[in-house]
Amino acid sequence: MTSPRLVDTHAHLMDPAFDADRPAVVTRARAAGVAAMILVGYDLATSRAAIDLARATPDTWAAVGIHPNSAADAADADFEAVAELARAPEVVAIGETGLDNYRRFTPTDCQRKAFAWHLDLADRLDLPVIVHNRQADADLRAATAGRTVRGILHCFSSHDVEFLDHMLDTGFYVSFAGTLTFKNAQPLREIAARVPRDRLLVETDCPYLAPEPYRGRRNEPAYVRETAQCLAAVLHTPFESLVDTVWGNASTIFRISAEVAA
Ligand SMILES: [Zn+2]
Repeated sequence: MTSPRLVDTHAHLMDPAFDADRPAVVTRARAAGVAAMILVGYDLATSRAAIDLARATPDTWAAVGIHPNSAADAADADFEAVAELARAPEVVAIGETGLDNYRRFTPTDCQRKAFAWHLDLADRLDLPVIVHNRQADADLRAATAGRTVRGILHCFSSHDVEFLDHMLDTGFYVSFAGTLTFKNAQPLREIAARVPRDRLLVETDCPYLAPEPYRGRRNEPAYVRETAQCLAAVLHTPFESLVDTVWGNASTIFRISAEVAA
């Protein structure tokens, strides 16, 4: 019997939250059927760490970028270094980047400039872009207007159907995190049910946003299973079939293939 091949498309496994037990976390992910992980950087140091960890861990890949909340702290040289890192063979995506009107650690102009820079880099290297959107639906529409984007809206949280439809038309895949499982997330589950199956992804965004029943604890890639189970229930689809679909989508957008648990 083959176990379903889960994929965590957004894991910050380089985060210090995992320093004490990272190998055990990876082992638990494998035991839970997680066949592949995308390790996502959020500044220069974590982008470099994502590549190093991907190099050392089978069936993991890296994404490099500077998070909108870190963009104000990043020097021009940091952006240049990220662009250099992006050429490493382990790198399968640019990000995470995006727009954040919730925390606003970074002035809006600076966020927009950094986001446009990531979109251009992704275009140039023919890589998908991983996009963080916190209460920035309108800004994101404006920033991507008139272009086709091969990208992922990570940790999707908008309840706006029209925004969803527009971003699907722009070319985006839609990734759901543990927030999908929260008791008060019925509006988000209704949105998830509208996403075409060939655009669906799942992720943990660990160490943040652990799904039920782990909510409030440190999140880890093994828990992507809970989010996938929730999504299967939302779609009235057998779990194995949903996992197969998501696996196919992840292989397509990130151009990855994995040997583990095949
Ligand atoms: Zn993230």
